[in-house]
Amino acid sequence: NVPEAKYIWLDGRLIPWADATTHLMTHSLHYGTAVFEGIRGYASGGELYVFRLLDHMRRLEASARIYGFPMRYRPEDLVSATLELLRADELHEDVYIRPLSYLGYGTIGLVFSEVEPHVAVIAFPYGKYFHKEGVNLMISTWRRICQEATPPAAKVSGHYVNSVLAKMEALKHGFDDALMLDSNGYLSEGTGENVFIVRDGALITPPSSAGILEGITRDTIIRLAKEEGIPVEVRDVARHELYLSDEVFLAGTAAEITPVLSVDGRPIGGGAPGPLTSRVKVLYESVVRGRDPRHPEWRTPVYVRGS
Ligand code: PMP
Repeated sequence: NVPEAKYIWLDGRLIPWADATTHLMTHSLHYGTAVFEGIRGYASGGELYVFRLLDHMRRLEASARIYGFPMRYRPEDLVSATLELLRADELHEDVYIRPLSYLGYGTIGLVFSEVEPHVAVIAFPYGKYFHKEGVNLMISTWRRICQEATPPAAKVSGHYVNSVLAKMEALKHGFDDALMLDSNGYLSEGTGENVFIVRDGALITPPSSAGILEGITRDTIIRLAKEEGIPVEVRDVARHELYLSDEVFLAGTAAEITPVLSVDGRPIGGGAPGPLTSRVKVLYESVVRGRDPRHPEWRTPVYVRGS
């Protein structure tokens, strides 16, 4: 089940997939000092569009800036690199794109100024993240990393040990995934998704101060909901509010919109996807696939019909 494609874009050129190896002295491998993104491309009828490509590349740059990591390429250059890669790979199905900016060979020490920075863009065919219509979650016993230590607003490789702990704990206990609380006990996010609850017809999602990655899917949902006249509140959510919610869903590039059926074994709503979740899910799918003409600026064409 290992993904594969023909090429990987590395530091300005395309190299065969099998040649994309790195030295064991790579700084990022030892210390988690890499920043990355997860992006989706949606295909239909011979066309392929990447969703919010420039926004993801800007967040990559922002993640690097938070830590002071060097970035060899501008977001616009990485947009071009991604398009070059997808065209060379001749991918005509739904894809996942993984830009990775990492620190390479140069020192066993922490100081990375002497280390060579690299940027890779990896892409491969990709389907669903959760292979089910709704998920059962637990509240992790692990807290979301606190922003005074390692700011979760940056999508840094090392941060994902926190997500791995929570995810593996959840699977071990028979759940599909976990939600994490911040160090004050408020709801933060999932292991690779933001979270929304529904109460009295309003969408509610935790603020950036709850130690979240400010997701591009989250932003998409907030903007589309506002356009639809659905009330949205960005505010702290206490743990007990999850149990009182009419609906809960996860939102992320990989997970897209995933209904949450239960939390800690307590059914949410009727234990089936709720009406607002279903509406948001259909809306999101229509926009990312271009069936809804809104926000054409969010869809970067790779191939369009006739080209
Ligand atoms: N939180 C975390 C920890 C994530 O890894 C992700 C996935 N990038 C998200 C939230 C959702 O972000 P996005 O919608 O930009 O994919």
